[in-house]
Amino acid sequence: MTDLALTNAILVDGRRVDVLVTDGVIDQVADAERAHGHPVADERHDLDGALLLPAFADPHTHLDKALTAERIINQTGDLMGAIEAWMNALPSVTVGDVIQRATEALDLYIANGVTAIRTHSDIGEGIGLRSIEALIEVRESNRADVDIEICGLVMYPLTGRGGETNRRLLGEAIELGLDLVGGVPALDPDPAANLSATLDAAEDAGLAVDLHIDETIDPDVLTLETLAHQIIDREFSHPVTASHCVSLGMQAPDRQREVAELVAEAGICVVSNPQTNLFLQGWSTPSATPRGLTAIAALHEAGVTVAGGGDNLQDPFNPVGRGDPLETASLLVSAGHITPIQALAAVSGEARRVMGLSTTIEKGSPADLVAVTASSVQAAVASGGTARRTFKAGVLTASSERLFTRFAPGRHKDHV
Ligand SMILES: [Zn+2]
Repeated sequence: MTDLALTNAILVDGRRVDVLVTDGVIDQVADAERAHGHPVADERHDLDGALLLPAFADPHTHLDKALTAERIINQTGDLMGAIEAWMNALPSVTVGDVIQRATEALDLYIANGVTAIRTHSDIGEGIGLRSIEALIEVRESNRADVDIEICGLVMYPLTGRGGETNRRLLGEAIELGLDLVGGVPALDPDPAANLSATLDAAEDAGLAVDLHIDETIDPDVLTLETLAHQIIDREFSHPVTASHCVSLGMQAPDRQREVAELVAEAGICVVSNPQTNLFLQGWSTPSATPRGLTAIAALHEAGVTVAGGGDNLQDPFNPVGRGDPLETASLLVSAGHITPIQALAAVSGEARRVMGLSTTIEKGSPADLVAVTASSVQAAVASGGTARRTFKAGVLTASSERLFTRFAPGRHKDHV
């Protein structure tokens, strides 16, 4: 018996299909209705020509910081202002506080079509392991709706005597149940040693790595190249993601190409985060302000997987944001100069690839899907107001009503 039938769905290649799901897995994708009449299923959704996509993934979020913009104010607007504001507020960031805000943020992401999220989570002096403990609880209690990966964002310094506490806390966080190891090497007094220590810790624990790389428009900072060399030299065997890579975008074209080819050789995936970097970078350059995005074209040319992340959600690092991958995609078109089709891929297939998830809608794929009321990929990326239905393992986890009812209780109109 089929558990779920999604009929009259349009796939990105334009085919109109019925998708049948059993035990959380797609077991048939067939030309719509004409092929077999009305499929019999426990639950049936007529998508009436809506676009059906592998569910969105957000490979770069900070659930522990989400929804604090009104309480924690960034005085200067830039990255150091955000870090200072956040560090000063840490005494108020309790386990319960993080659980409550992260859960509220998850509602937004899920309603917008997300079934997988990678969240960075602070580790270090001032916060200790409170964020990690909270997000592990959030990860476990939301397993049915969303796959959450927790990447330990180890504060700096990690090296030298000053880094003793942070190194110890990283070890304890790995014991608690981190999924990946991360950090901010460019802000460490010794970035190369920071990278090396991070990779050592990940290798010992058998974990993947996702680092905040070069979140600066200073072209003299380029730890991305150092990371790629270290990955190649030590034959690091776990997946590696470099998030941001802003200063690569400030290099001359030949230098971009050279580093992008090295990143491709190292097998590093890159996550660009337009919302946050358009906000944080360029405050000291009021004329022809740099956009603060990485060199997407050069990375694509070299064959690097480039995904789009939402990054900060209404916090001192980015006071706005909707938890919506289609907003990220739209900004990648406007500020990153890629096509709507490439931008949609960045928040869907490429984002899922970064997280090691299935990227197809075919027999055998997990039924983690999003239906979007748009007639094409172009229309979906262009229109942020599209309604969505989100399915995790073949179960409806959200429709746009979930979002609407947050603001207009009592509204229950079926819409897709
Ligand atoms: Zn980040």
